Amino acid sequence: MQTPRSRLSPEIDLDASGKQTGFLRLPYSVHRSAYGWIPIPIAAIANGNGPTVLLMAGNHGDEYEGQVALGRLVRDLDPGEVQGRIIILPSANFPAAMAGSRTSPLDQGNLNRSFPGDPAGGPTAQIAYYIEHELLQRCDFVLDIHSGGSSLTYLPSTLGRRPDTPEGVERAIELMRIFGAPIGYLVDGGGWGDMTLTAAAWRAGVRHMSTELAGGGQVTPAALRIAEGGVRRVLHALGVLTSEPPRAEHATRLMQLSGQDYYCYAPEPGLFEPLVELGAEVEAGAAAGVIHPHDTPWREPAIARFSRAGTVVCKRVPGRVERGDCLYHLVTELVR
Ligand SMILES: [Zn+2]
Repeated sequence: MQTPRSRLSPEIDLDASGKQTGFLRLPYSVHRSAYGWIPIPIAAIANGNGPTVLLMAGNHGDEYEGQVALGRLVRDLDPGEVQGRIIILPSANFPAAMAGSRTSPLDQGNLNRSFPGDPAGGPTAQIAYYIEHELLQRCDFVLDIHSGGSSLTYLPSTLGRRPDTPEGVERAIELMRIFGAPIGYLVDGGGWGDMTLTAAAWRAGVRHMSTELAGGGQVTPAALRIAEGGVRRVLHALGVLTSEPPRAEHATRLMQLSGQDYYCYAPEPGLFEPLVELGAEVEAGAAAGVIHPHDTPWREPAIARFSRAGTVVCKRVPGRVERGDCLYHLVTELVR
């Protein structure tokens, strides 16, 4: 059976050389605009022969450091510095990015839970379909820049699914070190299953790395600097950027995330009083936070506890929590 074609059409020729900027047009007929389209910004910078790299941010619209870093890269990069092709999608779920929201206001779609997408689905499913069936098909490598978003803040990290072979693990580690975030961790198993960009890249046989920079619904300058330098260092290491990148300011601590017990969740609804901060080393059973029942303040608060020992790299930001909200996640030293 033939794969149905995406309805998205790029204004630019993705295979041409030089620097091109424009929009992916996603047809969207609504009350305000009968024959309109959603303008998803895209750039392609190409010169000569070399690998093709896809740089993505705004997979979640409320994760800002990558969107700022890739916009600046589009403006600054000269085709003369490129050997191969760099395709840049700075605000991949564009409706979500314009709303400053993790998910799309048009269909509530979470792009990173929408792969492999649907060419006849809502806007988010159509964007996922285009990325998996058009962009990834052209690429040798994809870097997907996430931050914590509105609800989480991270020690700046690179991450990737643990490769199947020891050589693959060593290559992944080398690239995390080159990016130069303070933490780099490998995730065992499928993580969020087959609906993420990670899974899409795996299906397409495209090497992949992701980040979790700072987040918390703001642009953190220190994390932005790591992102901007890290992107250039990775492009240089892949052979697609010929100009010298800035040197990394951080050595990368190599870690892993290997199961659901690395996450700590709110056991009750209420107000979250954090007891530990990013970077803390915790023991199994240690108290993570107090959940205050502000609807019945005469009741004793609940205590959220860590299920295992580890290093805290991710922490919830908003004070109000529902049962099941993620408060923290841990990583542990990488075992090769
Ligand atoms: Zn994200």
